[in-house]
Amino acid sequence: MIHSVPELPYGHDALAPAISAETIEFHYGKHFQTYVDNLNKMVEGSPYEDMEIEEIVMKAGGAVFNNAAQAWNHDFYFRTLTPVPVQMPELLEEKLTKAFGSVADFKSEFIKAAATIFGSGWAWLCEDKEESLVIVKTQNADNPLTQGLKPLLTVDVWEHAYYIDYRNRRAAYLEAIWNLIDWEKVAGRLV
Ligand code: MN
Repeated sequence: MIHSVPELPYGHDALAPAISAETIEFHYGKHFQTYVDNLNKMVEGSPYEDMEIEEIVMKAGGAVFNNAAQAWNHDFYFRTLTPVPVQMPELLEEKLTKAFGSVADFKSEFIKAAATIFGSGWAWLCEDKEESLVIVKTQNADNPLTQGLKPLLTVDVWEHAYYIDYRNRRAAYLEAIWNLIDWEKVAGRLV
């Protein structure tokens, strides 16, 4: 199976100024592409050759895991963003309020979690086995699927996600990206 980078559902300049076309060209066009290219090279002739990316993430380790998880994470990340503001569906609002006290409290906890990841990684909102919502921090390529969690939302905090637009100001990137989250997609992942 040949893996490929899916087409973006928006133009390269559609998320500007929060995320510039230049960042998309590097992050989506080069970093994401490289993970997918590496994965294709590594799985050829291996037991992972005919597996979907999610299955490789669950079964592989080492470099195969890293490239498969980064391919999965980036697809999930870019598909969660939208240039058109989306109102949060009521069911998601209720679940966030139950877990964090309010949507505003969720936002501040999520941004705090993302801001405090040491080095490269990802901040996630997930649903756990008890159907509660939890914030999870992962390092490098790690992905909460391997912890038995259902990912609903992720924000990439590798420097390549924000350094062109924000330099070292990760918190400014996190504030800006908040307005690009497609809450209907996030809520749709609950079912
Ligand atoms: Mn990235």
